[in-house]
Amino acid sequence: MVENTHTRPPPRSCPDVALTGMTLAEYAAWRRTHPQAARADYRRMMREGEGVALPPVTRRTDDEGTVKFCLPVGGAAGLESESVIVPMTSYHRGTWHTLCVSSQVGCRMGCVFCESGRLGLRHNLTVAEIIGQRLVARAIRQTIRSSSAAREWQYFHDGIRNIVFMGMGEPLDNFDAVTQAIRVLGDPAGLNFPMGQICVSTVGRIDGLRRLAELRWPNLRIAVSLNAANDRLRDTLMPVNRGMPLRELQRALVDYPLAPKAYYLIEYVLLKGVNDTPADADAVAAFCRPLRCVVNLLPYNPQRFAAFETPATETLLAFMKRLKSRGVFTKRRIVHGRDLQGACGQLGNAGV
Ligand code: SF4
Repeated sequence: MVENTHTRPPPRSCPDVALTGMTLAEYAAWRRTHPQAARADYRRMMREGEGVALPPVTRRTDDEGTVKFCLPVGGAAGLESESVIVPMTSYHRGTWHTLCVSSQVGCRMGCVFCESGRLGLRHNLTVAEIIGQRLVARAIRQTIRSSSAAREWQYFHDGIRNIVFMGMGEPLDNFDAVTQAIRVLGDPAGLNFPMGQICVSTVGRIDGLRRLAELRWPNLRIAVSLNAANDRLRDTLMPVNRGMPLRELQRALVDYPLAPKAYYLIEYVLLKGVNDTPADADAVAAFCRPLRCVVNLLPYNPQRFAAFETPATETLLAFMKRLKSRGVFTKRRIVHGRDLQGACGQLGNAGV
């Protein structure tokens, strides 16, 4: 079942929304006061949404409970961020939700299997527009507690335990806004979202990884969208590889100051007849050998006007088996939100 919900538009001017892009220290500086004096107000604003007029939301839900929502951004008609709330279940951890956020509208990385890449870059999201996705997701989940429960407040009250920058855009291409958003998400005085529950997914921007390394955030989770482990094929699927080839990417990942128990998520979209052979699996295993990582296999999600096809389940399972036989810890990603055009690679407003 797919439904459409339009909430009422906010008042014409809602300057407080921009404040959600600030940490407590910045908010206090903006108010020209000491952080201690501003702490309670900041906490109410970020935790209870007090004084924050959220943007109008267009939202659709599928039968499984996956919610895709769009927010107007950039002040131009038709420009929207796209986000997805994905219900997750596991044997050990029960059920929870992951929020997939966008960092840009469209993307200039041009991966040929991705709807956002076909749009080209339309807009770099601001910090407030990124944080807005988290606040709207919370409002959609509608379980935020009142101020009387402030002392018990926990970041996952609304069931969202992970935030992944896997929506539209290359996060490291909008580096300053994304890293500031991570600071705001993690501010203990506000949203207090642990860095170990936030994942930045990159196409393999080596320059961005080096800048991220300088921040010394070892617990921040890093995902790399690999999709091919030989340069010839990766050059054709992901243009970024022409300037930042696999060997250099691998070196950058080896050098990155990951926490001792942390690991990379290596994402691999299987395209039928393109990158799904046993030799491709062997190349992936070779790429992963010096890395602490988990490979996440995803079947290709069909898109508008796309030239690729989804491989058979047997092909995916054989690929997975081959990787495992070479000592690579491999998981299969369960597909969510395909009917909403909300699955991996499908985000991108057809109207833009
Ligand atoms: S896969 Fe990621 S980096 Fe590549 S075009 Fe799509 S959004 Fe951009």
